[in-house]
Amino acid sequence: MDIRAPLSETLATTSRHLKALAEIGVTRVEDFLNYFPRTYADFSAPKKFSELIPGETATVVGKVQNLKTFRTPRGRTIISAKLISEDGSLNLTWFNQTFIARILRNGDEIAISGRIQIGPRGAIALIGGSFEKISDEMIHAGRIVPIYRSHGKLISSKWLREKLYPLLDYTSKLPPLLPVALSAKENLLSRGEAIRQIHFPDSFEKLERARESLAFEELFFLQLGGLRRKLDWQIGAAGSGKIISHSKALLFEFAAALPFKFTAAQKISSAEILRDLQKDLPMNRLLEGDVGSGKTVVAALAIFLAAKNGFQAALLAPTEILASQHFRNFLWLLHPLGIRGELLTGSTPAKKKKEIASKLKSGELDLVVGTHALLEAKIDFQNLGLAVIDEQHRFGVEQRTLIRKNGTPHVLSLTATPIPRTLALTIFGDQDVSIIDEMPPGRIPPITRIIPPQKRIESERWIESEVEKGRQVFIVCPLVEESETLEVKSAKKEFARLSEKVFPQFKLGLLHGKLRPKEKDATMAAFAAGEIQILVATTVIEVGIDIPNATIMLIEAAERFGLAQLHQLRGRVGRGSDQSYCFLFSESDSEEAKTRLHALENISSGFELAKMDLKLRGPGEVFGMRQSGIPDLKVAKLTDHEIIKRSRDAAESLLEKDPTLKNYPEILFRLKEVEERRDGN
Ligand code: ADP
Ligand code: MG
Repeated sequence: MDIRAPLSETLATTSRHLKALAEIGVTRVEDFLNYFPRTYADFSAPKKFSELIPGETATVVGKVQNLKTFRTPRGRTIISAKLISEDGSLNLTWFNQTFIARILRNGDEIAISGRIQIGPRGAIALIGGSFEKISDEMIHAGRIVPIYRSHGKLISSKWLREKLYPLLDYTSKLPPLLPVALSAKENLLSRGEAIRQIHFPDSFEKLERARESLAFEELFFLQLGGLRRKLDWQIGAAGSGKIISHSKALLFEFAAALPFKFTAAQKISSAEILRDLQKDLPMNRLLEGDVGSGKTVVAALAIFLAAKNGFQAALLAPTEILASQHFRNFLWLLHPLGIRGELLTGSTPAKKKKEIASKLKSGELDLVVGTHALLEAKIDFQNLGLAVIDEQHRFGVEQRTLIRKNGTPHVLSLTATPIPRTLALTIFGDQDVSIIDEMPPGRIPPITRIIPPQKRIESERWIESEVEKGRQVFIVCPLVEESETLEVKSAKKEFARLSEKVFPQFKLGLLHGKLRPKEKDATMAAFAAGEIQILVATTVIEVGIDIPNATIMLIEAAERFGLAQLHQLRGRVGRGSDQSYCFLFSESDSEEAKTRLHALENISSGFELAKMDLKLRGPGEVFGMRQSGIPDLKVAKLTDHEIIKRSRDAAESLLEKDPTLKNYPEILFRLKEVEERRDGN
């Protein structure tokens, strides 16, 4: 029994099923064992309808009747049904989930889990629940039954359950991933037992222990990887001689050039950065702060000091428009201080690129601001001392090449994603973290309002009058997390509707992820220049873009976004001196969604919102996977503070004992696997 054996040798099934499994990354026995349930249905003690408590989440079983689909005048699809059991009936409702009408039939027996609510007229109801059709095997099992994420038509939860069960014999063969002494000290289940229990738990207590054990392991490897990269980085570059020091006189010179004073948070972050820069070890620091909190100016201080110490600096931005914006800002601030800079992007003519490259090589330039094109231009710097990377997760591994090739400069990464500190240290374990959690004085935060569907037309008329006064508007289309193609389709549709029916008198633009970078930049530039009044977009709108005249942000289906994400979208307005507005449309009636969106009306700090939302939802949903660069954890929750701390301590002490892990070949092997998977997607 080899856990690395391909499933084609071990599983009795069709090649079509095998192909479908491969699509979700399951090709070997081990992969299959690592395909964990999405949730569980408790048939060991099924809930009676009379025992249901509003506000709680429950799994109930019954027969579907009175299945109906109807549309509201506003175009919402509502599916309703009754769930009948021996002790009564329960109303089921789903909003805008049309696929349910295709899979559910009257007479079906289902197990459904979700939140119990009091519906209209006082009847108990379950809204938007996730369900599964029942097979005898589940009920007769009289146990906690795993429910898996299905895939396509072939790979259903039931199918997965049936095929996985026999494979559990392999769990006894699973080698331990952690040192035995560590597992014992942390009181973890063996890996085999943990995997067995996560699929077919004997009890909820066992399930919890299994989850803890697997979460520990997952977080341990995540942090071990980060810490090791940090160690490598420092060992590799110690003594590189890139010491950037500061003096009172230099700091004074910079402060005198600024038209304002640093906020307290900017001062603290700068002090942390200055302390790193003067060491003979390269800095690797992440600077976090809401859009507009003043990260760029702090980075400018570091660049200024680098130049004054005789080093060059590079600033990388994810798009051309952001790079130009940075360049303008630096020019305005740093040029008078004697810093010589150039901008290098995809649209820089080849001749100019050559000239910049040669000046960087000869040391005639102190600063280059650029996009990916800068990485592609394969520039040899004379003496690169500092690399500033804006929205680092938008760059792949190429940025590391730039850094390695140039004698490991100090690296300062900037991000507007408000990841709480402990979390940031966990997921970006190789970086130190500074946080700017305060806005410069005098900002007028946007007024945020949830707009009920019946006020839609009214709000559209209001927007019209604002645009007539010369204001500009962002309209963000619903997030479709699973499929960019669908998202783009719906954005195009919305664009057509708005430009033909709602705002025919204005010039509208459309921005989405399937456009080429050049097209995106052109549209953004037209919007920035005021040639477009209303920009309809998916979430691709740049975080850092400065359009002072854009004062309205309208977000469709706001409940689908994480709070942190909504906050970032909202940060795109309110750059000027006029009052700005953020309107949230929502189709959800769930209490949770309402609470979350209300928080946005009342809280203006991105960090506060992120912390709050992390308690309610997973990090992927809070920050938006595609944008945040946060790894997709299988079992661990990034809110498991205690396990995070314990696993980090364990990873640290292991590295202290054995920095190269030469005595732990299995751990090293596993670490490589984990990192390859991460870099691969
Ligand atoms: P971020 O990069 O975090 O989005 P920026 O550094 O671009 O923010 O700053 C946003 C705007 O606020 C800029 O116009 C900048 O000049 C201004 N600003 C930055 N810090 C301060 C401050 N301490 N007081 C007043 N204005 C500031
Ligand atoms: Mg910025």
